[in-house]
Amino acid sequence: MGKIVKLDEQLSNKIAAGEVVERPASIVKELVENSIDANSTHIIVEVDEAGLERIRILDNGDGIEADDVETAFFRHATSKIKTDQDLFSILTLGFRGEALPSIASVSHLELSTCTGNDAGTQIKLEGGLIKETKRTKSRKGTEIIVTQLFYNTPARLKYMKTIHTELGNVSDVMNRLALAHPEVSFELYHNEKELLRTSGNGDVLQVIASIYGISAAKQMVKLESESLDFKLRGYVAKPEVTRASRQYMSTFINGRYIKNFTVAKAIQEGYHTLLPIGRYPLVVLNIEMDPKLVDVNVHPAKLEVRLSKEEELFTLVKESIQKVFKKIQLIPELGIVKREKQQSEQMSFQFPSQAKARETAKHYDSSYQKSSSTNTASPYQVDERNVGTGFLEKKEQPSTIEVVQAVEETNTEEFADTKESVQNAHEYNQNDRVPTLYPIGQMHGTYILAQNDNGLYIIDQHAAQERIKYEYYRENVGKVSPELQELLVPYTLEFTNSEIPILADHQDELQKVGVFLEPFGRTSFIVRSHPTWFPKGEEQETIEEIINQVLTTKKVDIKKLREDAAIIMSCKGSIKANRHLRQDEMFALLESLRTCEDPFTCPHGRPILIHITTYEMEKMFKRIM
Ligand code: ADP
Ligand code: MG
Repeated sequence: MGKIVKLDEQLSNKIAAGEVVERPASIVKELVENSIDANSTHIIVEVDEAGLERIRILDNGDGIEADDVETAFFRHATSKIKTDQDLFSILTLGFRGEALPSIASVSHLELSTCTGNDAGTQIKLEGGLIKETKRTKSRKGTEIIVTQLFYNTPARLKYMKTIHTELGNVSDVMNRLALAHPEVSFELYHNEKELLRTSGNGDVLQVIASIYGISAAKQMVKLESESLDFKLRGYVAKPEVTRASRQYMSTFINGRYIKNFTVAKAIQEGYHTLLPIGRYPLVVLNIEMDPKLVDVNVHPAKLEVRLSKEEELFTLVKESIQKVFKKIQLIPELGIVKREKQQSEQMSFQFPSQAKARETAKHYDSSYQKSSSTNTASPYQVDERNVGTGFLEKKEQPSTIEVVQAVEETNTEEFADTKESVQNAHEYNQNDRVPTLYPIGQMHGTYILAQNDNGLYIIDQHAAQERIKYEYYRENVGKVSPELQELLVPYTLEFTNSEIPILADHQDELQKVGVFLEPFGRTSFIVRSHPTWFPKGEEQETIEEIINQVLTTKKVDIKKLREDAAIIMSCKGSIKANRHLRQDEMFALLESLRTCEDPFTCPHGRPILIHITTYEMEKMFKRIM
């Protein structure tokens, strides 16, 4: 007799559950996606003990017809696709028909649903087996309660991290769904405490405020652009609001949260020298495209997707972000007066629910710090360098008030203010972005003090010159013919088995930029020369950088290389602190700064100028009240 048997349905489901429903957060994701696919406009999610105890999802969507309720729990049973062809144009979040049977197979599950036309249906399952099906009350929509999670897969429970980490994951999932679907109102509760509430009025900026706080939302700039195949909509934070993790860059394709290397890289290059090294922007970007150009069926949880025309998308994202910042003035103001204003606003946050929110805040203050390495875009980790309020101070922990703000509803008057400030972001012509400045003098041989009608400006002279030189070199480095310089001591570079063929494939391109790899043994190459334009003292790093580009992106990006080389050269050649400058030298420096493409930050992303407005001065000296 043969040894191969076909597994029964229950066991197959349990195996599938290993991929689709790893943890409470993935269950929440699958169930809420089902609610969204069913056209719900209001979705309530309750989790107890991060969902390990109980998960309840309540929606007001289409519901499931009585005849379909049991079928929905069969493996690969779906209402969302029917034919092969449908796989090429998926507009729903689900389509694999795996979530319900998988979740049911590892828990006790109760589902009540009604289409609004007939009586409702209630079904109860344990470990995937149907225990009961009966008629129930007819409220349109669907309610699912999951308990006893992973009761029959004990290893999985051990694999769970702390409650806080799991809850962080649940929050992340909900945040992403809310950002992707501002037209749906979401509520999330943990052990009956409200963690997230969005209005469902379609305004992404309001969702951003609910998640990241009002002050972050105020620093966001709208982005809208399109090419032949793609349409971008979203918000990008001004470079002064940076985060320590790239998790704050949320990207969506046709309303589905995705992780995509190309898109992430395009965002970072869009900001490029505007961000300090190791800091990442806060970005919420939805990409609309023909579903035929994206294959979502490459990852069980559909987090990763395969895209056609990635290069076009890369250029569009990068250039759209660059354009946004070319149009607005990015000189940070000292914000002393603003701070006063904000304090009084904070006073007005004494709502009745504050005690409750503060309790939540305390809870998160301690728990999120502990698990901060694993949790990502959680709402309570406010880690921003908000130049407006804390620029000259040490970075502060998020105050309770900030957390309270995040917890509170965002439909406040203050929020109306936010929208205005974003929409009124003034657009400047290239050369007016830094106004003409008249030097008053120099301080500590380091800062130039300058003035005009609008107030006092403080300029970091080293940073300013770095920016000017950087833009000069970026234009000119590498324009000369690629002359080579022999190395006195050749470099030997080692690679792995998998890297060697990639490099061999790209020999031609490498040679075009002056990098000649000479095979040496099975896993090494020798390099004997380099182009003369490589920055002095950085030759080996530059070669390694080029090779790295080839290994990671499979091509040589000469423009990026020139930019990197220009950064190194501009830093080396610039006036250091403690150098006296004459009045005319200062004036010349400020004038060259005005002609820069990005006059507000040095190539490493540090600010070049700070502005104290005349109004702020008058306020400080109590000339006006
Ligand atoms: P998929 O979402 O891939 O179709 P699921 O196993 O998640 O597979 O769900 C199976 C089917 O059950 C769906 O195709 C849908 O018809 C129905 N369904 C699930 N959840 C809901 C819901 N909240 N509201 C209405 N229908 C639902
Ligand atoms: Mg589904």
